[in-house]
Amino acid sequence: MMLERGSIADRYAAVRAEIDAVLRSLGRPGTVRVVAVTKFQPRTCVQEALAAGVESVGENYVKEAEGKLADLPVRKHFIGHVQTNKARRICELFDIVESVDRIEAARALDRAAATQGRTLPVLLQVNISPTERFGVRPEAFDDLLAGARALEHLRVEGVMAIAPAGVPQVQTMRAFETARACFERSGGKVLSLGMSGDWREALAAGSTELRLGTAIFGPRPAKEAIR
Ligand SMILES: *Cc1c(COP(=O)(O)O)cnc(C)c1O
Repeated sequence: MMLERGSIADRYAAVRAEIDAVLRSLGRPGTVRVVAVTKFQPRTCVQEALAAGVESVGENYVKEAEGKLADLPVRKHFIGHVQTNKARRICELFDIVESVDRIEAARALDRAAATQGRTLPVLLQVNISPTERFGVRPEAFDDLLAGARALEHLRVEGVMAIAPAGVPQVQTMRAFETARACFERSGGKVLSLGMSGDWREALAAGSTELRLGTAIFGPRPAKEAIR
């Protein structure tokens, strides 16, 4: 069971131990990257997470990340919607962008990365949920993959997807399988599936990375509560 109380360090240790146990039960060797999703969490909580051993954090909003993460020694994942007019800031602030879902976003990030003289690792976000606004539809994935691969300053490392929430497990699994099929065609190494409510199913589907918010931090504060 997930702990509802206790410190960030307690919850992080508990969920890591559970993840290791599930990996063992699946007979999957190796490790899985846990990205601590810090959206709406204050900087003090992010610092607490780093002290507890968190090595990667995920943020959805550029503006929020600017004040909170910029100077912290941690691997930063952008997991929010990529607005083309924010591409430059995203590229300056983050180590990897997980949410490239259309060629315009890929091109804007490519230009930003070129300006900064770097190659930006990205994941392509696939839409596997009727309630999710963003993500490329699975039928259009191959076109986006080809387009993004042709860009000199991006490196496509795999696939990210968000499963439908509150559906039967069999539906979650089916959605994850769709994302996995795209991932296999991508030739990448990173499959970012799984959040606090569905990470077990994600591991069963072969996810190599989990994005965990509430499992580590507890319930999220309202957005207005920040700053
Ligand atoms: C908020 C968010 C998460 C974390 O959600 P939890 O259910 O709190 O674990 C993961 N991925 C994305 C893209 C998110 O926006």
